[in-house]
Amino acid sequence: MSPRDPALAGDFHVHSTYSDDAVSSLGENIAAASAIGLTQLRLVDHVRSSTTWVPEFVRAVAAERVPEGLTIRTGVEAKILDSSGALDIPADLRLGAGGIDAVLIADHQFPGTDGPWSPRTTAAKLEAGLAVGDALDLLVTAIVGAMHSVAAAQLAHCFSILPKIGLAEDDLTDEHLAVWAAEAALTATVVEVNEKWACPGPRALAAARAAGVVLVASTDSHVATDVGRYSTVARLLAVTP
Ligand SMILES: [Zn+2]
Ligand SMILES: [Zn+2]
Repeated sequence: MSPRDPALAGDFHVHSTYSDDAVSSLGENIAAASAIGLTQLRLVDHVRSSTTWVPEFVRAVAAERVPEGLTIRTGVEAKILDSSGALDIPADLRLGAGGIDAVLIADHQFPGTDGPWSPRTTAAKLEAGLAVGDALDLLVTAIVGAMHSVAAAQLAHCFSILPKIGLAEDDLTDEHLAVWAAEAALTATVVEVNEKWACPGPRALAAARAAGVVLVASTDSHVATDVGRYSTVARLLAVTP
């Protein structure tokens, strides 16, 4: 048996009630992380360009008591809007001192040439003749653009969009993955291995690790009882060279 990967002592993607689809408070998530023995926790909620609660969220996290042995970071999760890599974040978003620690770049919709394409629209375009290679070029270009647009970001459940549009990570070429990994390393972007979406897979993770990208574990928890509990992520990390 391989030893437990040290990344499993962290959970870098935990939602609170600041996201409309999550049920636990910041304090409940922090307590759950501490109880399960995590040393690193990133508190993350969904934003759009219209979101106004980020300063309040930052103050609320700062007001929480931090249990001994636990380091807390913050983040906001935002979708990539188009193939340029533009992100759906508030214009006045503050990163670093007095603000959040990182933006989580999410492929919730397909980053199309003229804005976000729903999975259904993207599947229809593929059906109507959009070449798989061209679609994947758009996706990788968008992720790279997004990584360059914000400092020290984190890729949330990267490539989770692919099964939703009828594709798989195996459709990505080695060159796609090499570019993706090299640009993540260049921009100091962290890649999370996501329990809920079971991605990225071993090929992408191997490319990332070979490029020197930091891999972190995440549950994408929407309820405190899920914080820090891994099965798929442990398996993915164990098989990644
Ligand atoms: Zn997400
Ligand atoms: Zn999330």
